Amino acid sequence: MVLLADKKEGKLSGIAKAEHSIWSGEAMVFCPRCKALQTVSLAGNTLMPTRKFTQKRSQIYHDCGSSQPCHLYHSW
Ligand SMILES: [Zn+2]
Repeated sequence: MVLLADKKEGKLSGIAKAEHSIWSGEAMVFCPRCKALQTVSLAGNTLMPTRKFTQKRSQIYHDCGSSQPCHLYHSW
């Protein structure tokens, strides 16, 4: 019998958290896998292209290979 890592499926949504408003400006992204924390710029809920983070739909993924989307925080 093989034990698979059974991680709870948390529906973590990054940008989608801010449904009430359009995000433009700076936000902090936090990678749950490698704990990287970085400031990124958003324009109308769209991540401005960065070298380390990729936006897929409403979620942001770090380039460390994390399968979990990054958390997003207002930085103001
Ligand atoms: Zn990462």
